Amino acid sequence: MPDTIFDQILSGQIPSYTVYEDEQVYAFLDIHPLSPGHTLVIPRERRAFLHELSDESAAAIGRVLPRICRAVLAATGAEHYNVLQNNGAPAHQAVFHVHFHVIPRIGDAGLGIGWPARRLEAAEAEPLLGAIRAALD
Ligand code: 5GP
Repeated sequence: MPDTIFDQILSGQIPSYTVYEDEQVYAFLDIHPLSPGHTLVIPRERRAFLHELSDESAAAIGRVLPRICRAVLAATGAEHYNVLQNNGAPAHQAVFHVHFHVIPRIGDAGLGIGWPARRLEAAEAEPLLGAIRAALD
């Protein structure tokens, strides 16, 4: 995987506002926040996409993510928030190092979402389910 700006943040070459850190996880304020408190939570492990992450890094992030969310809510006074995790340029990923956005919703400030939902039909669900379950084995 090529170097990203987050490698330079992890190594301290580029400064960042550290929110939290441990051996496997680093969290810092997003430089272009959608709302006050917008925080990025990343593994120290260098992987572009969530599905490439080791179980150890995934578990480390899962352990601390709710705690970081609680702290961001407490600090900002927000009651609502989104956790966003983009994979791939067409899915709005700009930095190819796994990251979770914690984005408080404060009034109109926060994440805008397009959600063009439709009804799931059995003819679509059943073959998909079979394929996904088979891939999990
Ligand atoms: P993505 O679109 O890849 O999910 O989001 C990448 C995020 O990284 C963006 O919200 C962007 O503002 C943030 N970002 C990019 N470069 C820097 C940087 O140098 N410092 C910080 N703190 N955040 C950055």
